[in-house]
Amino acid sequence: MKKKTIRDIDVTGKRVFLRVDFNVPIDVATGSILDDSRMKAVLPTIGYLREQGAKVIIGSHLGRPKGKRDPKLSLGPVAARLGELIEHEVKVANCCLGAEVQEAAHSLEPGDVLLLENLRFHAEEEANDPEYAKALASLAEVYVNDAFGTAHRVHASTVGMARYLPAVAGFVMEKEIDYLSRAAHDPARPYVAIIGGAKISTKMAVLEHLLDKVDKILIGGGMANTFVKAEGFDVGESLVEEEYVDSAREVMEKAESKGVRILLPTDVIVAERFEADSPAKRVSVKDVPAGWRIMDVGETTIDVFAAALRGAKTVVWNGPMGVIEMGPFAHGSHRLAGVLATLGDADTIIGGGETAAAVEQVGLASKFSHVSTGGGASLEFLEGKELPGIAALEDA
Ligand code: ADP
Ligand code: MG
Repeated sequence: MKKKTIRDIDVTGKRVFLRVDFNVPIDVATGSILDDSRMKAVLPTIGYLREQGAKVIIGSHLGRPKGKRDPKLSLGPVAARLGELIEHEVKVANCCLGAEVQEAAHSLEPGDVLLLENLRFHAEEEANDPEYAKALASLAEVYVNDAFGTAHRVHASTVGMARYLPAVAGFVMEKEIDYLSRAAHDPARPYVAIIGGAKISTKMAVLEHLLDKVDKILIGGGMANTFVKAEGFDVGESLVEEEYVDSAREVMEKAESKGVRILLPTDVIVAERFEADSPAKRVSVKDVPAGWRIMDVGETTIDVFAAALRGAKTVVWNGPMGVIEMGPFAHGSHRLAGVLATLGDADTIIGGGETAAAVEQVGLASKFSHVSTGGGASLEFLEGKELPGIAALEDA
């Protein structure tokens, strides 16, 4: 699947609506941006548009304001940071509808940048309201989507607007499509998926779909606990989603019938309390003490996973092996990142916010073929689903 990009159309002198993912972590107390990597990712797109003499109108969501104006979720701090990054003034519209923003958009000069206020301050955004989409579209002459992280959502600014304007991909979107397409449709084999993290309910469906695509699945992190429980072992106070124990069992049965190997942790690091400085120890996954909780995978598990990865030609990793926010329990994920980094000629794809953070903690991000900016979006893509935000763009 090839989509038109900003290189394929003339944007000179035009007002371009650029949908980005500036959903960055902000310290509520100080208003400072804790991690601006999502902003930096879009700089090549913004730079190209400005060089071409486009007038750039940027729209993004931030957090979950639930359709209401919430000063804590204003894009104000983002505008200030963006100005520093592009070394150019960023004009700010304190709303994305109405006469004032129309005036601001229409008075832009080539190379100017206008940042709209949080698109989700209006409930119409997530409802994909056609009038809202039309109003946003009326600000511009071209629509560019560079927000891969929300491409699996059907919202006004990710899908609705594309009906009213020529719609193309930015550079972030282009790269995501390039790398993920291969893994989704024509992966080099053996193909190994590593699934961890905490969002069991959302990742269970993904696992089922991956069974038709991959040769092996390695399961770690909070995700593994539900499987360990399904195997009949007690996991103490570990994170488990009880209502998915049956689905975990089904996934294992299906894997067996399809000849896909599923590997679960054999040893785990357990802690007495869910705290970084809690007493902790390594135990067999069959011997989690009552009242304790699984926080990370153990050394043997990583050894076994490393052996299973040897010779792999495509590896997709989504979801950390442990509680990476707590130093002592980030070890398994860090070691796994090291293993993946040495897989020479394999396509290695990292997806998910926390997984990307884990590989960055150990400075290995550049060692992988692709670190995706989207968690849920990259998983749906890898399942083989067509993402609505990508489908809405013009075919190349
Ligand atoms: P990603 O953002 O990479 O898609 P998720 O959001 O699914 O990953 O999961 C990341 C979270 O999973 C992290 O916050 C981490 O603390 C948590 N996690 C991993 N292992 C465990 C565990 N054993 N118990 C509880 N939480 C865990
Ligand atoms: Mg996450």
